[in-house]
Amino acid sequence: MSVLVFLDHADGHVKKASLEALSYGAAVAAKAGVAAEGIILGTVSKDLAGLGKYGVKKIYQVKNESLNQLDAQAFTKILSQAISTIGAKIIVFSNNLSGKSIAPRLSARLKAGLVAGAVALPDTSNGFVVRKNVFSGKAFANISVSTDIKIISLNPNSYSITTNEGTAEIADLAITVEPFKVKTVSVSKASGEVPLTEAEIVVSGGRGLKGPENWGMVEELAKLLHAATACSRPVADSHWRPHNEHVGQTGIAIAPNLYIAIGISGAIQHLAGVNRSKVIVVINKDPEAPFFKAADYGIVGDAFEVVPKMIEAVKKLKGVA
Ligand SMILES: Cc1cc2nc3c(=O)[nH]c(=O)nc-3n(C[C@H](O)[C@H](O)[C@H](O)COP(=O)(O)OP(=O)(O)OC[C@H]3O[C@@H](n4cnc5c(N)ncnc54)[C@H](O)[C@@H]3O)c2cc1C
Repeated sequence: MSVLVFLDHADGHVKKASLEALSYGAAVAAKAGVAAEGIILGTVSKDLAGLGKYGVKKIYQVKNESLNQLDAQAFTKILSQAISTIGAKIIVFSNNLSGKSIAPRLSARLKAGLVAGAVALPDTSNGFVVRKNVFSGKAFANISVSTDIKIISLNPNSYSITTNEGTAEIADLAITVEPFKVKTVSVSKASGEVPLTEAEIVVSGGRGLKGPENWGMVEELAKLLHAATACSRPVADSHWRPHNEHVGQTGIAIAPNLYIAIGISGAIQHLAGVNRSKVIVVINKDPEAPFFKAADYGIVGDAFEVVPKMIEAVKKLKGVA
């Protein structure tokens, strides 16, 4: 029996969220006294053996170009075959887009209990209990899983990546890949240097910025901090910014190390998508703005005065003109 971690990749590289899942899976395996292994579907240019430094002893690969594109139905089928071949009993995903679409299907197919959005290692002192966020991060639930096979999808940014000296053995798994039932006609990738879901720092703007023409300073600050840009829903609805930047209950949920909110009121639906950020900085001219209650640092002031000063200060700190 082993702990098997699903490795999600894009553009030939394993995603950061999967490195967190690897470190988490290695810790779960160590607790259970078994080996941690990984599985990757598709072809990856990155040195897979090097992923052993995140604590996995072996990585199974189903090498097939068509698997570089996610198809949840096909992936579920392949993974369920792989799991029975390998004999894994605990399967770990990142609770990102791939994990969210594959883990529930796999759970149904394998009749395996699933904890979606785990935020801590399982407590095995009395059964197998995993903590997850509920009510948009307002509370925790401790979920007891009693099925033979257990599936955990780990919330991104809730477990730190740990490394050691190891390398992993790579093993090819011979599984027949049937043609996908769903054909991808085209893929349009989100623009921007740092993907929002992977970003350590996010600079986000709301309706307080008045219009799309004022996003230059948000982008400049983001670039200086190597951050991704985000926005509130009305900003995306008004087409000031693309919808893939919309964070919140009905948008993307993120958990960066630093979230800088500029001219955003802090409505509950917005907070639902950002309140797992480690540090929140709020810039708002209204001292009564609800966002200040959720902020670690608050600046009461006009964004059009504060943000240029921040840009100046960051430039000075970095020694750039
Ligand atoms: C079912 C449902 C789902 C929703 N889902 C989402 C969601 O996923 N994400 C989301 O964001 N919203 C969502 N909303 C909308 C949400 O309720 C709020 O309306 C929205 O978040 C407000 O956006 P905002 O803060 O940018 O704008 P506003 O509420 O208009 O706030 C603008 C803020 O900017 C400040 N401001 C103005 N001028 C300046 C200045 N010069 N300098 C500094 N500050 C200034 C103001 O004081 C104010 O606090 C949802 C609503 C519903 C009903």
